[in-house]
Amino acid sequence: MPELPDLEVLKEVLASRILGREIDSARALRPGIVKTASPMINSLSGRAFSSVSRRGKYLILTVEPRFHLVVHLMVAGRFVLCRGGTKITKATGLQIAFADGEDLRLIENGPIKLAKVHAVEDPLDVEGVASAGVEPLSPDFTVQLLKDLGRGRRCHVKKLLTDQRAIAGIGSAYADEIMFASHLSPVRYVSTLSDDEFVRLHDATISVLSEAIEEIRNRIGDSLFTDDIRDFLAVYKRTGEPCPICGAKIAEIRYANTRTYYCPVCQGGEGK
Ligand SMILES: [Zn+2]
Repeated sequence: MPELPDLEVLKEVLASRILGREIDSARALRPGIVKTASPMINSLSGRAFSSVSRRGKYLILTVEPRFHLVVHLMVAGRFVLCRGGTKITKATGLQIAFADGEDLRLIENGPIKLAKVHAVEDPLDVEGVASAGVEPLSPDFTVQLLKDLGRGRRCHVKKLLTDQRAIAGIGSAYADEIMFASHLSPVRYVSTLSDDEFVRLHDATISVLSEAIEEIRNRIGDSLFTDDIRDFLAVYKRTGEPCPICGAKIAEIRYANTRTYYCPVCQGGEGK
């Protein structure tokens, strides 16, 4: 599932490729992909996207101040740009054809098709946007705010990091990377963090996400496939491989339908 760094770069690439292009037609090919009835997506005809922004895990394709497509790619959603006449497959959920012949498709390969598009007058009409927590790369995300968000919570640190209502945009992969960079055990509870550990967690959140954006941006060119670029991550999906810091084998915990990857040496031991 794409997370903040992937979506941040995808936002930039999409903007460079679709803004200002006249839209010929827009249609939903998968029933249910568009979650709203008004404004109608076929009223995109004759207009153009004016900006692309991101809020948490949502991309917001703005047509005009009171017309936005708010997109959540969920697990397998991707955007592709196709030349005119490219065959439409079952993977295509939404197609936006430009007047110049190319079209933008939201596709989902595989059986899981959960991507969502909301056509709205105001992005805040989408519950997940309205309830989204702090953007971790914004100046609002301070150590004090992180402590406030953690106060009174009886949950693992990873759960706090991935709670979209607390901090927006982080999923399982980058939460594991942030925990690794913070030298915090994946089983630590928020309530046990010291002041120093909150500082470490805060600083690692910013550095891991910022560095990932740079890394993905440097590799991506004008491709829309950002979510494949994760080979630079230190622990995520690296079970059994050596930790880049200490060489110990990366371990994995399965808990509540998620997998957590960590280094038992760097993040283990007493007091960590
Ligand atoms: Zn290690």
